[in-house]
Amino acid sequence: MRKRDRNGLRISTRILDLLYPAVCELCQSSLTRGRSLCGDCRDELPRVTPPFCEKCGEVFDGNIEESFRCQNCHGLKFDFDFSRAALKGLALSFHLVHGLKYQRQFYLARELAGFLHEALEEDPRLAEFNDALLIPVPLYWKRKQWRQGNQAYELSRELTRLTGLQTIEAIKRIRPTSTQTKLNRKQRLSNLRGAFKIRKKCAPEISGKKALIIDDVFTTGATAHECAKVLKNEGGVTEVAVLTLVRG
Ligand SMILES: [Zn+2]
Ligand SMILES: [Zn+2]
Repeated sequence: MRKRDRNGLRISTRILDLLYPAVCELCQSSLTRGRSLCGDCRDELPRVTPPFCEKCGEVFDGNIEESFRCQNCHGLKFDFDFSRAALKGLALSFHLVHGLKYQRQFYLARELAGFLHEALEEDPRLAEFNDALLIPVPLYWKRKQWRQGNQAYELSRELTRLTGLQTIEAIKRIRPTSTQTKLNRKQRLSNLRGAFKIRKKCAPEISGKKALIIDDVFTTGATAHECAKVLKNEGGVTEVAVLTLVRG
């Protein structure tokens, strides 16, 4: 059993409170119990709700009752079945992703995985992935070293804690790719071609299974597409969906 103090809090939570300033990441109001966002800010973060594109998860304002494919991805080939994001790509969400990704605030992953969990439970299509493996999008080792971690892995690991679904780092990035931020979709695809491989030792564990690719942001879908491709073609994964924190 995990050790608890006399208030019933986990000792590890107490240690986290000491290590990290217990204030809300967005509004600086004080917090306890190892959280990084206050209740108000958690409620305020813009969730992805229907209607959204059934393939790429692009959000639409307005009333669309049936499922639909958006203009942006109409006619594009994606090797994943569909992608779902938890939060809309507005300033507040990007502020948190930025902290997680570039400022080494990996403690945020614990809080942010809660939003992934919400999306997982709310989207009926994801009910079919309730026995899937969680597979984080990998970084090239040098970049991971530079950032001192991989934000997608941190999110995935925390989602494992919340759901019991296993995280497995089944994909590796075998060459560095230039940063994608300024590239269009076509350039992103050629930038990424052949950049991913299945880790040999993971192959038997993933073959014949379903997978949920976990990442921080979904922008054009090029990364998710390449990862889904190797999972299916090399890894023998049967179905692949994508779950990201933010829809960019
Ligand atoms: Zn707050
Ligand atoms: Zn779309």
